[in-house]
Amino acid sequence: MAERDVDLFVIGAGSGGVRAARIAASYGARVMIAEEFRVGGTCVIRGCVPKKLLVYASRFADDFEDAAGFGWSVEKPVFHWPTLIANKDREIDRLEAAYKSTLERFKVELVKSRAIFEDGHTVRLTASGACVRARNILIATGAWPHYGPKIPGLEHVISSNEALHLEELPRRIVIQGGGYIAVEFACIFAGLGSKVTLVYRGENILRGFDDDVREHLRNEMRTRGITVTCGHTVTAIDKQGDEFVTHLSDQTQIAADKVMFAIGRRPNVMGLGLDKIGVKIHEHGGIEVDAYSQTSVPHIYAVGDVTNRVNLTPVAIREGHAFADTVFGNKPTRVDHADVPTAVFSEPEVGVIGLTEAQAREQLEVVDVYKTSFRPMKATLSGRQTRSFMKILVDGISGRVVGCHLVGPDAGELIQLLGVAVKMGATKADLDATMAVHPTAAEELVTMREKAMTWRRQAAE
Ligand code: NDP
Repeated sequence: MAERDVDLFVIGAGSGGVRAARIAASYGARVMIAEEFRVGGTCVIRGCVPKKLLVYASRFADDFEDAAGFGWSVEKPVFHWPTLIANKDREIDRLEAAYKSTLERFKVELVKSRAIFEDGHTVRLTASGACVRARNILIATGAWPHYGPKIPGLEHVISSNEALHLEELPRRIVIQGGGYIAVEFACIFAGLGSKVTLVYRGENILRGFDDDVREHLRNEMRTRGITVTCGHTVTAIDKQGDEFVTHLSDQTQIAADKVMFAIGRRPNVMGLGLDKIGVKIHEHGGIEVDAYSQTSVPHIYAVGDVTNRVNLTPVAIREGHAFADTVFGNKPTRVDHADVPTAVFSEPEVGVIGLTEAQAREQLEVVDVYKTSFRPMKATLSGRQTRSFMKILVDGISGRVVGCHLVGPDAGELIQLLGVAVKMGATKADLDATMAVHPTAAEELVTMREKAMTWRRQAAE
C-alpha cells in the first residue's frame, strides 16, 4: 500500500534526473527524487567536475617550465597532492549543496535512499521500506565503471572513482583503456609527475575519433613521457609488497604503485526490478527508449547514461529537460543527438564535432579535407616540443562543414563555439568570409585555404 502519491518520481539525482525534476516541478508537478549516493551524480561527484579540477592542477607543471623562456625564474615548484584533493573535495561539497538547494527551491522532495520498482506505478525506498505511488517515473541512474573479465589480481584495480580519492600521488601508474577516461587520467597523472603507462587493446587510442587526431594525440602523449602500449591487455596483477606487477598479454611486466582500469561504463539497470515491470533493455545494455526518452512502458521514461545513447553530461541534461517539457509542459520535445561537440581534456586538449574523415567518406560523394599542424606561438619562446592540429572536413558538393577536429590548447573552448556554426549549417565559404583574430590559434580555422586533398567516391564503390 503506497504511503505517498506524486506526479513524478525520479530515480537518481545526477545531471539528467535533477534537471528533469526541477523543470517538471516548475510546471506544477509534485516531484520526489531518490538518490542513494550523493546529489550531483557522476558529473559533479566523481566525473567531469573533479576531473577538470585535477586537469587544471596537472597543467601548472608546464606553466612553471614554460615561464623560463619568457624571462621568469621560478624556484623548483613543489606539488602537494593532499592539498589538491582536499580543495577539490571542498568544491564538490559546495556544488552538492548548490544542487540540493536548487531542488529545495523548486519544492522537489529529496529522499536519500535506493528506490526499486514494486510494480509499474510504485517504488519502494529501501532505506525506510516506504512505498511511493507515482503517475510517471523517470529512471536516471547513470552508469558505473566496468572492470572487464575476471583476471587474477583484479581486486587490486582501481577505477576513476578511487583515483579521485587516493591518499598519495602514485609514483608509477598503469592505466588500461584507450577512451576518454584512460587518456584524460594518463595526462593528469603524467602532468603531476607520475610515470604513466597506458595499455590499450586496439591499434590506437580514442577509437571512434578521427584517425589524424588519434595519431597526433598519441605522439604528443609520448613526447610528454607517457608510455602508450597498444595491441595488448592486462592479464594479471600481482601484489608484491607495496607494488603491483602488471602482466600484459605480450608476456611483459610493469611494476607500478597503482593499476587503474578505464574500460568503459555499464548502465545502472541491475536490481531496479525492471524485468518485473516490463521495461525493455536494449542489446547495448542500456534502457531502450524512443526519441522522447519513453521506455517500453508508456509512463516510465529514462534519460542519461542509463540509456547508453550519447554518454555526456550536457546530453543527459537536455534529455531530462526535454522529458519534463514533453510530459509536464505540454511541449513534446525530442533531443537532437546529431553533431554533439565534445572534448577530451587530455594534454593537449581535443575538441571535435561532426563526422570523422572515415565517416564522411562513408556518407558523402566528395569530401574536401583541410588540415594544418603548427607550433603554438607560446611554444616559440618556451621551447616546448608540441604541435597543434586542426582539420576541417567539407562536403565537396554542398560546401557544408561536416566535421572539425582540433588538438591543442583550449580545443574544448574552441569547439564549443565552432559547434554553433557547424550546427547552423556553416559552409567553408562562411568560415573563409570570417575575419581572422590575430594572433590566435583559432585564426587557422578561417584561414585554411589550401585543401590537403579531395576524396571522391569511385564509381565501383
Ligand atoms: P570508453 O567507452 O570511452 O572507452 C573504453 C575503452 O576501454 C576503450 O578504449 C575500449 O577499447 C577499452 N575496453 C573496453 N573493454 C575492454 C576490455 N575488456 N579490455 C581492455 N580494454 C577494454 O569508456 P571510458 O571508461 O573512457 O568513458 C566512459 C564514458 O564516459 C564515455 O563513453 C564518455 O562518453 C564519458 N566521458 C566523457 C568525458 C568527456 O566528455 N570529456 C570524460 C570522461 C568520460 P575499444 O576502443 O577497443 O573498444
